[in-house]
Amino acid sequence: MRSCEVLIVGGGPAGASAAWRLKRAGADVLVLDRERFPRLKLCAGWITPEVMRELAIDVDSYPHRLLTFPRLRVHVGRVHLPVACIQHSIRRYEFDAWLLERSGAPVEQHIVRHIRAEGEGYRIDDAYRCRYLIGAGGTRCPVYRELFRELNPRASDLQIVTLEHEIEYEWRDADCHLWFFDQGLPGYTWYVPKERGWLNVGIGAIAERLKRTGRDIRTHWAGFAAKLATDLAPGALYDPTGYSYYLRGRVDVVRRDNAFITGDAAGLATRDLGEGIGPAVRSGLRAAQAILDDRPYELGDVTGLSVSSIARSMVSRFLHAGRAGRRVAPVEGGTADGLRHRDQ
Ligand SMILES: Cc1cc2nc3c(=O)[nH]c(=O)nc-3n(C[C@H](O)[C@H](O)[C@H](O)COP(=O)(O)OP(=O)(O)OC[C@H]3O[C@@H](n4cnc5c(N)ncnc54)[C@H](O)[C@@H]3O)c2cc1C
Repeated sequence: MRSCEVLIVGGGPAGASAAWRLKRAGADVLVLDRERFPRLKLCAGWITPEVMRELAIDVDSYPHRLLTFPRLRVHVGRVHLPVACIQHSIRRYEFDAWLLERSGAPVEQHIVRHIRAEGEGYRIDDAYRCRYLIGAGGTRCPVYRELFRELNPRASDLQIVTLEHEIEYEWRDADCHLWFFDQGLPGYTWYVPKERGWLNVGIGAIAERLKRTGRDIRTHWAGFAAKLATDLAPGALYDPTGYSYYLRGRVDVVRRDNAFITGDAAGLATRDLGEGIGPAVRSGLRAAQAILDDRPYELGDVTGLSVSSIARSMVSRFLHAGRAGRRVAPVEGGTADGLRHRDQ
């Protein structure tokens, strides 16, 4: 039987962030993940500057693909809006493995199945024992299933279904594009270029509303792929895969005795854009801090809306440009050069 002070189930952004904070404070931590890293994680890989700040990641030193967008291109029907704000894209395959390794925590490949309370702590699959348990296992997290599901049942009207594919592709437009409600989709489609010839395209929609439209997600995908073929990504071939997760609903109980839930396990993705990496990171850090400082674990500052962070980025971009005495970069045109960190 392996014993540790804090056991984290799941080594994605939530688990790796918690592990990083705990290890830096000298805690005895172990991470269990069903996969061997680097592992595939379906995700567009768009992240905000706040995530980089919270994790103290210097964008210039990050060793893998990282592309900085000086704008998002938002399309709603015939309205095409360039939104001047700084955002980044990474490849989850690289980012998650790097984050987990950087945490310095030992990682074991193990599929967690059974969790039992034992004294002040927990016994996992009769193979691990811990005092504190952090559930960071994503949508199908066993900590959620065994300890929290009854307390926080998930709302079916907040379930998101997705299809996406990340491919090697020499894209020409270096901007991130989002199309909302295209062809009646109750959600949005995206085109997210990655540094050095990778591209992620995908589609996400509220499952219940999609069902009511009578068109399934694969039909929407076909329309989306046809549009990309005539415009942004001619000649690209896709074999998309699906995944489902939950937008932020009522999460009444996030701590139960010495057990915590974080990230997608708690269903924390933002209501407007389904952004889950930021909430996963912040909740992981908050859970770790609650353990270290013996204080309440609260998610009050884990935002439920991406638009607030985008607005902050827009304001800081304008202020930054003002202080530097230069014009904010024009928002027309995306080029494929200067990819690493084009702040302005
Ligand atoms: C198609 C798609 C596109 C998305 N695009 C974006 C985006 O661009 N930006 C953004 O911010 N968010 C995006 N999201 C949401 C984002 O991917 C998630 O919210 C985020 O990954 C949550 O992180 P997490 O650490 O909570 O869970 P995860 O990243 O899912 O990590 C959970 C880990 O737990 C492990 N695990 C699961 N079960 C077990 C078990 N029984 N035992 C041991 N280990 C287990 C898994 O192997 C996994 O490594 C997207 C989601 C999808 C599906």
